This record gives sequence, structure tokens and C-alpha cells, in this order.
Amino acid sequence: LKTRILLLCLSLFLLTSQVIHAQERLQVTASFTILADVAKQVAGDAADVASLMPIDADPHTFSPTPQDLIALANSNLILVNGINFEEGLMESIENAGSEMNIVVVSECVPILPIGASAHHETEETHEEHEAEVSVIETDSSETAARCATYETELGIETSDDHDEASLGHLYEINCGEHHEESGEEHEAGSCDPHVWTNPENVMLWTLRIRDALSQADPTNAETYAANASAYLETLRALDANELLPLVETLPVESRVLVTNHETLGYFAVHYGFELIGVVLEGGTTVAEPSAAEVAALIDTIRSADVHAIFAENTTSTTLIQRVAEDTDITIVTLYSDSLGDAESSASTYLDYMRYNVQTIVTALTSSD
Ligand SMILES: [Zn+2]
Repeated sequence: LKTRILLLCLSLFLLTSQVIHAQERLQVTASFTILADVAKQVAGDAADVASLMPIDADPHTFSPTPQDLIALANSNLILVNGINFEEGLMESIENAGSEMNIVVVSECVPILPIGASAHHETEETHEEHEAEVSVIETDSSETAARCATYETELGIETSDDHDEASLGHLYEINCGEHHEESGEEHEAGSCDPHVWTNPENVMLWTLRIRDALSQADPTNAETYAANASAYLETLRALDANELLPLVETLPVESRVLVTNHETLGYFAVHYGFELIGVVLEGGTTVAEPSAAEVAALIDTIRSADVHAIFAENTTSTTLIQRVAEDTDITIVTLYSDSLGDAESSASTYLDYMRYNVQTIVTALTSSD
């Protein structure tokens, strides 16, 4: 009997050594601050969540230090947005060659092409950039099944939701990679990574994070499930009771945006805004527009009678300042690819959305 008990204990030990030990807390690293905040809501007090990138860092250009890579390797779980958003980070992880437990939280999100927005008129003035679409072989059916359960759980039908605009789910399409050096704009990487500007996509993140945490730390699965459903309710209420009513105070014809880089595509489709111009094209911040492109943007702004242009907390504003001076319009700063610090109006994702929607509605209201 003693031997049996010993064997039982040994096999239990071997089983549990795949996951963390009961007395240890799960260590989670999220690539950027917005994702880290959402992960913290799901983790609650049961796991430790850190953001790799600091506040106000630009995730498009962030490259980790060797110490960052060691910290990543010591995490039980790494959460990334994906869609080529963390370009420098993923390249460094690949080069480091170490095996890390990485979860792409946007895998069930219907992906929009860069430059997607609501169309107020039926004119064909809007050019869509064709994305390279190909099926990713690995784990595709498993992921598809998981995404289908998420849609049922949330009571949404994402495949029909954005039928016109969407390229498909991330697991079905190949978003390619940015080739900054090639000088061929829009050649590849035509998927828009800024999915969190639509709270529905953050609901999909929440479910993916819940399942990733539960798999790595089954002891606390119930806690993660309870935290996730509470947060889902909060996100639903934020969107339906606060943000949508606020947007609806703006007449449809005033819902027109010019931004610094293309961060608001998902926002625009969800809330019915039209994106008429952007300073830095291509969905990233590394673009260097030509003098002709800047001149064309200035023309667009003048002819559309735009009175505000939206800048970001994470990128330099030299060029946007020039555009604003030339067109005599106000620059209004939004939080884009990072939260603000603890004292700011955007220290959590919920406040980030509140601040941005309030700021956009105020700027576009006063311009009437
Ligand atoms: Zn960005």
C-alpha cells in the first residue's frame, strides 16, 4: 500500500509539474500596457501581471533589452496582441531562439484592413488595401473551434458582423510583415493591429486570456472565469451605456477623423466614423510620408473643413504639427497604443476608452 501511495504521489507530482505549483503565483507578462490592464482584470489577485513595454512606449518600434528577454523567458505566460503590432519584440524573441509560452490574444478577432472606416456617402473615394489572405496551417481547426465557442459565449456573430470590411479571423489570414526598408508601402502587412479601439474585440481578448491563465494555472480557473465574466459585463455596460450614447450626440456628418497614424479603424467601423486622412500611413509609426503625400493630406483636410486632427501619446508630433500649422487646425491628443500613467485620465483600458471618446466627441462638437 505504501508503494502505491508513493507511486500515486509521484505521478501526481509529475502531472502537476507541467503547470505551476500550488504555492507559486502565475507570472504573466503582457507585451504592452493596454493588454496588461485587461489581463490584470482577469487575473485579479490570483496571478502577477506585468507589462513588458513601459507607459508611453511605442509598441511598433519597441525593441527589448537582453534583460527584458530574460524576464520574458522567466514568465509562465506571455500575452501579445499579434497582427505584426509588436514587430521589434517578436523579432527579438525569434532571434533569442528560446522557447517561450506565447499566446496571441487577438486570434479570434475579425481583422480589418488598414484604413477601414464607416462610409458616410456611397462615393468610391475610399481605396482599400488588399491584404494577402492565406490559411495558416498550424492549430487552425483547434483555434477555429475555440473562436466559435467564444462567439456563442458572447452572443455575437463576428463572421457576419463586419462582412463588408473584415478580412477574416486572424487564424484564417496571413497578415504578412512590414518591410520598412523596401520602400514599398502597403506591399505587405495590410492588417490593422489596433483591435482594442472596439470594446467587442477586448471581450474576445478577455475570453482568450481567461483560458490561457486557466490552462497554465488550473487551481485558479474558477477565479479567472469569475473575474472574466465580471469584466465582460463591465465592458458591455461601458460600450452600450456610456460610449455609444456619447457618440450618438454627434450628428453622423460630424463623425469624421484625421489621425496621426492609423489607430482608429476598428473604432471607426464600430462607432460609425469616417477616417478621411492620416499623417503616417500603413498602420505603423515608421512611415515617412513624401512631401506630395503631406500636401495631399493638407488638401483633404482643407476641402473637408476639418477642425481637429488627432495625435497620440506614443509618437512624435513634428510632422502632424506642420500639417496642423499649414491647415490652421487644432491638434487634440488621444491615448493610442499605450495607457497613461496612474495620475492620468487613461490609467486603465476603461478610462482610456472614456477619455478618447469624450475627447473626440468634444473636439468634433465644438467644430460645428
Ligand atoms: Zn499603433
